[in-house]
Amino acid sequence: MLTGEKELKAVMFGPPGAGKGTYASRLQKKLGVETIATGDIFRELMKEKSGLALKVKGYVEKGLLVPDDVVIEVLKQRLSKIPKGKGFILDGFPRTIEQAKALEELAKIDVVLLLDVPDWLIIERLSSRRICRNCGTVYNTRFLKPTVEGVCDKCGGQLYQRSDDNPDVIKKRLQVYQEQSKPLLDYFERKNVPFVVSKTTSLDQPPEPIVDRMIEELKKRGFV
Ligand code: AMP
Repeated sequence: MLTGEKELKAVMFGPPGAGKGTYASRLQKKLGVETIATGDIFRELMKEKSGLALKVKGYVEKGLLVPDDVVIEVLKQRLSKIPKGKGFILDGFPRTIEQAKALEELAKIDVVLLLDVPDWLIIERLSSRRICRNCGTVYNTRFLKPTVEGVCDKCGGQLYQRSDDNPDVIKKRLQVYQEQSKPLLDYFERKNVPFVVSKTTSLDQPPEPIVDRMIEELKKRGFV
């Protein structure tokens, strides 16, 4: 749990498939902070039959970004529910300069946790990713297999493949990251937001040492 002086306000940043959700959920457990994952919020919303759900689905399933006004409104609502004094990690937000500017009005980000992962690894990882429908645990059919195929080790839930984890949509998502999201790195740098960079170089690299190092770096900055 967080015992540091300051409440953590962090952005987990990196291309799709970099492990943002995996690291954010581990940090959430270890540090007692909240995580806000806009992709998860949209996937939940897409189960509804509303006009907004259909609109969002049209973007997500093509690997395109949901329009800024929709995302910013969703983020605002979710942020307002975080209890006072509790830290948070944003997973998958901001993804455009417009979103970063809106965020600036809402909170001062202390640190960007940047995930540096090569494209080949992302494509390999995403095309074999499976997720538990019930608890969200992430598996991989090649190097992080569940004990029983299609069944979550932790809760027995059914594993599924995200509709946007197919080769064409993965390519589109990577292109969108390069064009629309990567420029945010310059933006954060100009705003003097410190970075903690974590590099992944192989498919079977376990997440724990990276999470431990992130915590060490946050400790040095007085957050843990
Ligand atoms: P993720 O789970 O973060 O990979 O997000 C899945 C999809 O949700 C993305 O490919 C986008 O279509 C949409 N999405 C999630 N977060 C954002 C965001 N901050 N801005 C725009 N679209 C988003």
